[in-house]
Amino acid sequence: MTLELRCGDVVTGCEGVVSGNTEEEVLTAAAAHAAEAHDLTTIDPATERALVAAIHPV
Ligand SMILES: [Zn+2]
Repeated sequence: MTLELRCGDVVTGCEGVVSGNTEEEVLTAAAAHAAEAHDLTTIDPATERALVAAIHPV
């Protein structure tokens, strides 16, 4: 099963999409995307919860 996270579900207007086979992989990819695209080098717990909530299977 592939899991996907649309960054736009969390960050309005972003069209980035990351995916992985596990929630952990998706979060790792999301953290890399956030650092690269949003200059967000640390993900606070509230943001992490929002990211986890936005992960869905494809
Ligand atoms: Zn983004």
